[in-house]
Amino acid sequence: MITIDISQIATLPTKYGIFKIQAFKEVTKNGEGKEHLAIFTDNLSDEPIVRVHSECLTGDALGSVKCDCGEQLQYALELIAKEGGMIIYHRQEGRNIGLLNKVNAYALQDAGFNTVEANHQLGFKADERTYEVVEFILHHFGIKKLKLLTNNPKKIESLGDIEIIERLPIQITPNPHNEGYLQVKKDQMGHLL
Ligand SMILES: [Zn+2]
Repeated sequence: MITIDISQIATLPTKYGIFKIQAFKEVTKNGEGKEHLAIFTDNLSDEPIVRVHSECLTGDALGSVKCDCGEQLQYALELIAKEGGMIIYHRQEGRNIGLLNKVNAYALQDAGFNTVEANHQLGFKADERTYEVVEFILHHFGIKKLKLLTNNPKKIESLGDIEIIERLPIQITPNPHNEGYLQVKKDQMGHLL
């Protein structure tokens, strides 16, 4: 069981539209629990569109084109502003190896390793993410069924008793910097692109 502190709900106007936000903090003994965010529209249906977006500081905030995270987030914000739904901003940076290790993995990639090999070099699995907190947030909102906005089939299997009635793909146009990365995600991590 995980213990979670929950914030009030606040309004967040964005260039995509007006959302509501609520924060969820994992409570740990040393008080350093990760903080996650639900970003959602007023008109949540019984079967909303949901994007579980993993934090990627370089892609989400800095406009990095080394991965497709920033584009995926923008796509999700635009779509959900229009159609209604929720983005769970899941603070597991670098597939949960953290920012420092992610930068080390990038340095290994500069030296010629691909994204999966670089993680292995550092002693991690290709993907270290866990989804308990995502399940908690969905339960908190009473969401039992959803349409999942993802290219990652592992996320479809990771949401416990939540029923995924449909998978909505995110179509991203590759660029010269992330072509190789997208291909590895497809070939070695089972992503559906
Ligand atoms: Zn990224």
